[in-house]
Amino acid sequence: MLASLGYAAHKASSPLAPFSFERRDPGPHDVQIDIRYCGVCHSDLHQVRDEWGGGAFPMVPGHEIVGRVVKVGVQVKGFKAGDLAGIGCMVDSCRSCPACGEGLEQYCEKGFVGTYNSKYKDGTPTYGGYSSNYVVDEAFALRISDKLDLAGAAPLLCAGITTWSPLRYWNVRKDQKVGVVGLGGLGHMAVKFAASFGAKVVLFTTSPGKAEDARRLGAHEVVVSKNKDEMRKHARSFDFILDTVSAAHDLNAFMALLKRQGTLTLVGVPPVDPSLKVGNLIFQRRQLGGSLIGGIKETQEMLDYCAEHGIVSDIEMIRMEQIDAAYERMLKSDVKYRFVIDMATLKA
Ligand code: NAP
Ligand code: ZN
Ligand code: ZN
Repeated sequence: MLASLGYAAHKASSPLAPFSFERRDPGPHDVQIDIRYCGVCHSDLHQVRDEWGGGAFPMVPGHEIVGRVVKVGVQVKGFKAGDLAGIGCMVDSCRSCPACGEGLEQYCEKGFVGTYNSKYKDGTPTYGGYSSNYVVDEAFALRISDKLDLAGAAPLLCAGITTWSPLRYWNVRKDQKVGVVGLGGLGHMAVKFAASFGAKVVLFTTSPGKAEDARRLGAHEVVVSKNKDEMRKHARSFDFILDTVSAAHDLNAFMALLKRQGTLTLVGVPPVDPSLKVGNLIFQRRQLGGSLIGGIKETQEMLDYCAEHGIVSDIEMIRMEQIDAAYERMLKSDVKYRFVIDMATLKA
């Protein structure tokens, strides 16, 4: 077995602390990665605090993993020692259902194996990227270009693909009016991608102080969503709105901003479900959608696009022991715009 050191929550209410554990030795199809950086997703916070229920403890969070390959199995074709590699939210799936067949492992009918807070097919727990290393089947490892800033690339593995996938699926394109709700980890990547596709991007925020940053990131206009007059000016004007908010909020206010046949897609997962005014949908034939991360093939396409266009996340680097303070700032919407852990600071 391979010795690994991580940072774990031992129960839902405990701060994170060093945790020694073991990973499998790399098999014929596996790559072993020494982790350099790991992004901090709001999903990590939801899960270590067990806000979605069913959490398995001790829990080592982290699914925005980048590092260097140190060892590969004899059958591995796509990676060699020394390559940069990434791991996102999934480390396996059934690989035989229709969804897996279409490269949509995130919608695997048997449920994918999550990078942490999940179980491998043999029943052993998965531990995430707030740790020194990871062993993963190459089918779930991503290639990272050395053109990209490595720490800034880490959040692409979740925040990047989670916003890329719906923007692509709903075909966001040049000259469309597109809204992004919330300027956090996901939101700031959505603004960058939508702007790079040529859309007219409006950022909805509850933090007026983020307006200048939003424009720098690519937003053409910023609306403070608590201001009803500002909101009303945009009634019936959006082709598409992507909602990245992590807490309970009023969806109906955003639904009213869609054009006829416009779509509001949710990627944020608040612990409490929202209420919906059905008339708001019916009277303008509007649509409400949801989207979960993205498949492995699509994640690689997104990473390659980022390498070509020089897109990474705007990050604040933290030391491992600052993680609980980072969570507290995240809860106050005070992240600019993704925390990334420098794994060199991980100590027993
Ligand atoms: P984050 O960095 O904390 O950003 C969330 C943003 O939401 C905040 O920065 C804030 O933006 C806004 N917000 C927070 N509380 C709010 C409230 N009460 N009312 C209105 N707006 C509020 O979080 P993240 O990492 O981007 O994740 C966002 C959500 O997506 C989380 O629920 C996470 O679990 C989920 N997620 C889903 C997927 C998926 O596959 N669907 C993948 C990853 C994450 P402003 O300051 O601009 O208002
Ligand atoms: Zn995530
Ligand atoms: Zn499947």
